[in-house]
Amino acid sequence: FPVERIRNFSIIAHIDHGKSTLADRLLELTGAITTTDKNKQVLDKLQVERERGITVKAQTASLFYKYQGQTYLLNLIDTPGHVDFSYEVSRSISACQGVLLIVDANQGIQAQTVANFYLAFEAQLTIIPVINKIDLKNADPERVEKQIEKVFDIPTEECIRISAKLGTNVEQVLQEVVKRLPPPTFKKEDPFKALVFDSNFDHYRGVVANIALFGGCLSKGDRIISAYLGKSYEVNELGLLRPDEHPTDRLYAGQVGYVIAGMKEVKEAQIGDTLYHQKHPVEALPGFKPAKAMVFAGMYPMDQSDYSALRSAVEKLTLNDSSVTVQRDSSLALGAGWRLGFLGLLHMEVFNQRLEQEYNASVIVTAPTVPYKAILSSAKLIKEHGKEEITIVNPAQFPDRSVVKEYLEPMVMGTIITPDDYIGKIMSICLNRRAVQKNMVYIDDHRVMMKYLFPLNEIVVDFYDLLKSMSSGYYLLHKLLFGSMYLSFKDRAYSAGKAMCERLQDAIPRQMFEIAVQAAIGSKVIARETIKAYKKNVLAKCYGGDITRKMKLLKKQAEGKKKMRYVGTVQVPKDAFINVLKRK
Ligand code: GDP
Ligand code: MG
Repeated sequence: FPVERIRNFSIIAHIDHGKSTLADRLLELTGAITTTDKNKQVLDKLQVERERGITVKAQTASLFYKYQGQTYLLNLIDTPGHVDFSYEVSRSISACQGVLLIVDANQGIQAQTVANFYLAFEAQLTIIPVINKIDLKNADPERVEKQIEKVFDIPTEECIRISAKLGTNVEQVLQEVVKRLPPPTFKKEDPFKALVFDSNFDHYRGVVANIALFGGCLSKGDRIISAYLGKSYEVNELGLLRPDEHPTDRLYAGQVGYVIAGMKEVKEAQIGDTLYHQKHPVEALPGFKPAKAMVFAGMYPMDQSDYSALRSAVEKLTLNDSSVTVQRDSSLALGAGWRLGFLGLLHMEVFNQRLEQEYNASVIVTAPTVPYKAILSSAKLIKEHGKEEITIVNPAQFPDRSVVKEYLEPMVMGTIITPDDYIGKIMSICLNRRAVQKNMVYIDDHRVMMKYLFPLNEIVVDFYDLLKSMSSGYYLLHKLLFGSMYLSFKDRAYSAGKAMCERLQDAIPRQMFEIAVQAAIGSKVIARETIKAYKKNVLAKCYGGDITRKMKLLKKQAEGKKKMRYVGTVQVPKDAFINVLKRK
């Protein structure tokens, strides 16, 4: 296929602005799927994605499109739309020359729109702004075009107004992709060189790597090397994704597709890795920096007898999500488990949900925490660690003050976009959470964009939901700065401890005996609540005869128990481990 007639692009958007819907329309228009699949959002494959309406893993589709008598090959790379998954966005767009930046005609520019714009802008891609949902009653495409001009410096005339739902102007989007985006500049005469931009593990066929060819061509039977590990493989199968796998004999420079080459672990096809021919070694592509975990949590089986089953599920799932870090861990109360690192709270919840849905695993996830640093003062410890500064991802391993010169906590730059009615409220919330305002601008008559430096710990659990409840959103730069931790907020420990005890009192059901819930700093108890013992027998309500009702009640009680976990002799509902952290 002539490279001049190839276009590689991504669709990027704030969540719910219509990326999946537009992707579906584009697939239909080009005949990659039939209209009977309508509204199924074929690119959102995982069950969690369907349920939560978010895209977690990027999917790719090659489309053939006829324009002015010529057939073009358009490679569409779908990207996730949530703040936690920017890392996946940046890896997908690295295989593209352009992006469609979707903005909802009613909601206008949102935090993630800005984040995605900068990812594409920094990668020097051509950006086509698309205003979606013009069919909505309150659509105001003119206002949104002005925002785009103000925030991104893109002339209003460059915006395409569409309704992905109704299909209005969707054909124009394909035409503009052909007209405005440059073709890739790679040559098929060059030695073969491909970027691995995604990889999946398949139980039967091993690793399926998604690749973009930056030069040369690849055929079945070729011997290739992966630059990262330097291992050699024979290509068993390769082809296009439309979006299902369509095996072909060859892939050429500028194309995007999949390859299966007997790799048994995703480690062997690292995201950002370069593949080349054994006969023609080439310099590796720059690759990607590994994603930095921002949130850590303990994960334990509901029952220790499930440990090895859970271990295998965690291993398989991390094969498909290289952004999760895994360390073995154990806890007095919960037994053997792991400490996992995630890109954010949603990432953690999605991982958890996939474990339950795809591997039928039942797990307890402990309170999410952020990584801290400590500058050690004890010469003995410094020698032991080989350095002065240590990173702590597990609260149980927090070093004592007596051996520490200074504690550092992670800080992140965040951008908030909010309607101006909420400015005051949001500013006071941010102040309360120890954030420092860096900048504030109006993006139109009623919307404001504010930049804050946040202590990560203050926003990790509930900030997203809180802002959402005020029609606002934020995104974080994916970079942690470590700043001095002011221990003055120790005063807050008292009120926090009391609130925590109260929430635990609500979250833990009454049991056969009285339970004391206490919060302590070291050995000093600072708050206490009591959960009274329960008196009633569930069966006391059934007067003799009705055996089926009795069975039902017992079954219900047993099911309730399944979701419980014993900590010592106390049954704790598994959700309690996270829910108690959400501030009211
Ligand atoms: P994504 O999160 O960006 O992938 O957004 P989706 O494609 O899942 O769309 C989010 C919601 O907006 C869904 O309920 C869609 O049906 C709806 N939607 C998408 N495009 C349009 C449109 O052009 N008009 C209207 N009215 N609704 C749309
Ligand atoms: Mg979607």
